[in-house]
Amino acid sequence: MHTIIKFAAAVVMGLAIGACSKNESSEKGTIGIAMPSKAEARWVSDGSNIVDALKKLGYDTDLQYAQYEAPTQLSQIENMMVKGVKGLIIAPIDGTTMADVLKQAREKGIKVISYDRLIRNSKDFDYYVTFDNYRTGVLQGESIVDALQLKQGKGPFNLEIFAGSTDDNNAHVVYSGVMSQIKPYIDSGKLVVRSGQQAMDKVATLNWDGGLAQARMDNLLSAFYSSAHLDAVLAMNDQIANGVVSSLRGVGYGNGRSAMPIVTGQDAEISSIKSIIHGAQTSTIFKDTRALAEAAAQMIDAELSGKTVTVNDTTSYDNGSMIVPTQLLTPQLVDSKNWQKVLVDDTRFYTLEQLH
Ligand code: BGC
Repeated sequence: MHTIIKFAAAVVMGLAIGACSKNESSEKGTIGIAMPSKAEARWVSDGSNIVDALKKLGYDTDLQYAQYEAPTQLSQIENMMVKGVKGLIIAPIDGTTMADVLKQAREKGIKVISYDRLIRNSKDFDYYVTFDNYRTGVLQGESIVDALQLKQGKGPFNLEIFAGSTDDNNAHVVYSGVMSQIKPYIDSGKLVVRSGQQAMDKVATLNWDGGLAQARMDNLLSAFYSSAHLDAVLAMNDQIANGVVSSLRGVGYGNGRSAMPIVTGQDAEISSIKSIIHGAQTSTIFKDTRALAEAAAQMIDAELSGKTVTVNDTTSYDNGSMIVPTQLLTPQLVDSKNWQKVLVDDTRFYTLEQLH
């Protein structure tokens, strides 16, 4: 009996302590976090990293994923506002659909950070935090130029381009970076796009969907490469690269008789690092999403506490309504030569066991 009373008292105390720490942690209020989808591993990590960073700063969080449905994301954000969030961190699915909801946020005094992807056609938010997307494209383009030794005069080579989703501003910025590197070689005939599909609207992949990329690669291979070898594929992220590689394998590339083309990527997803180690994918772009999450949490905390918000770019990101003050982080190329140094030894982003 005595023991039971002691146990009950401990439970009550525990509840009291729990309640107290909950009150303390929510003193600064709740931040809503709207992520596009769980389809890519990166957004799952982004979400949990933002939650951790905000909790350390004393906020409660409301994290939602919208499985690439823009209207779902909008209603998630509206619900967060109804529940009284103090701030919103939004990685938009369709960057052009946020204007109305953000107008309401501004009226309620809610602070908004555009996360990784740019919110377009709205003045009702103050900051953007992302990786240097143009640089990401430059690194992808350079990876192809270097691997094919185009600067050394080699070629001509056959290339196809697989970009991201047109409703995501990043896809356009990365595309410009890519083109800055490969267009000169397309113009000189050292890179040949046999399909003729080069413009962004022709090479885009809705929702960066690997399955759609695979289907498009299947079509291109049967229409243009039944008797020609494809030498390089500019795949704008790892999901797209996975789809492209599956399609290529399906017709015998990488089987010893027919070399796998150079294939780029983005996000340093575990499956792509494994693919780089085994020689199917050539490169990817590492973006340390832990640092992005930390930066977003610091920015919204500074804004809500009336402190100076750090930005390092006030010219590049015109969203159609304003130039958005932006904090740019640096992307890094990862390939078969440096994956272990960059991802394991230097940053501990992954353990060796995860990659084998
Ligand atoms: C991100 C990429 C990601 C892609 C698809 C882009 O906005 O910057 O890291 O691969 O969306 O989710």
